[in-house]
Amino acid sequence: MTADLQFYRRAVRWGATLLFFAVPFVRLNDESLLRFDIETLRLFFFGKAIWIEDFFLILLFIFALTFLFISVTQLFGRVWCGWLCPQTLIVDFTRKMDRKKQTMLSRAEGHIFTAVFSILISACMIWYFISPYDFITDLAGLRLGSVTLWFWGVLSVITYINFAFFRHGFCTTVCPYAKLQGIMFDAHTMAITMHPERRDECIKCLACVKTCPTGIDIRQGFSQGCINCAECIQACGRVMAKKGKTSLIGYVYGLENKPKFFRANVLITAGLFLVFTVLFSVRLLFSDPFGFEVYPASKIMPREQGGRIINAFDVRLTNRTGSEMNIRLSLEEAEGYEIQPERRFELGSGESVRKEIYIVLPEAAFGKYPVRTFNLKAETEGDNPASVLAEAGFRKPIGRKK
Ligand code: SF4
Ligand code: SF4
Repeated sequence: MTADLQFYRRAVRWGATLLFFAVPFVRLNDESLLRFDIETLRLFFFGKAIWIEDFFLILLFIFALTFLFISVTQLFGRVWCGWLCPQTLIVDFTRKMDRKKQTMLSRAEGHIFTAVFSILISACMIWYFISPYDFITDLAGLRLGSVTLWFWGVLSVITYINFAFFRHGFCTTVCPYAKLQGIMFDAHTMAITMHPERRDECIKCLACVKTCPTGIDIRQGFSQGCINCAECIQACGRVMAKKGKTSLIGYVYGLENKPKFFRANVLITAGLFLVFTVLFSVRLLFSDPFGFEVYPASKIMPREQGGRIINAFDVRLTNRTGSEMNIRLSLEEAEGYEIQPERRFELGSGESVRKEIYIVLPEAAFGKYPVRTFNLKAETEGDNPASVLAEAGFRKPIGRKK
């Protein structure tokens, strides 16, 4: 079982790394599965496009992720560090760098591998902000923009320095998550440590200490420097196997190794995770396919012409879908009105237009009032029309007799 642990860690490491590289390439509705497009300030999220105007949606997503992270840490400690954290995964991939006794050639090989890996990882990080298809096409055609090139270069150098020299030192000194875990742990949180009831069986061979990449003696109890790599479990398991026993070190729930999953703090954070996930999902699923905003055109005053009142508005329409759409404007519950210069708009995928329109109303539409509010309706054309309403305030020119 202890040997299997590293096999599973290796499998998860490969799976997570392949997923990390694949996600920007996988397309749904013509866009990456998950990517924040820096050019159009849109988050592509599993076939949906979230605009920067809908930033609160991104905020809901971040809150959901944060509470998921906290509740998982409260339950299972630093399981993230040992199994999924990119820092640990890449340090594991570049293990050659850790060998103390090696030839100059072997050391140079390690540095070359780490440098190439850093360049690739940095490119992949950029693909979460710039389409990887555009990036690769531009790179092949030597057209990659200078800002992107510089950013890629700087990111590659930082990544290389981190993985060639800092390695696990990053986890024990810089990583904010490592620093914060103290406030997330409680008396029942799972951690890698010695099974409390088997302390007397230790033969003090120090195999667990020698194998630890962060230099911890886990027999002394839980340590903040532990990255949950599970190497000590395996090392002790090998020693104990010779005595027909299992590892003295393992995943232990609190001081008494008694799992207790339903605890007030976990229920609160897991509950908040569920609330934010539901809010985010509902808002995302039922979000309008296009954005529609209407503002009075402040520079153009209402005017009267031949018994009709003209008001000007700034209209902004944004196509949030992956296909073209035609949108028509109309005024709800109003008769004899005109929209000039046009009431029909053609928008390509992701396109946003801002237009000034004039709405001409018969004076009778105001009745005895100087102001009136109507709903301006934007409706898509096609088999399944979708519509969005926006309030538009109309007023007669100032100084007119009512
Ligand atoms: S004590 Fe060391 S070897 Fe054991 S899990 Fe923690 S970091 Fe890994
Ligand atoms: S490897 Fe196991 S037996 Fe050896 S010192 Fe560590 S805990 Fe004790």
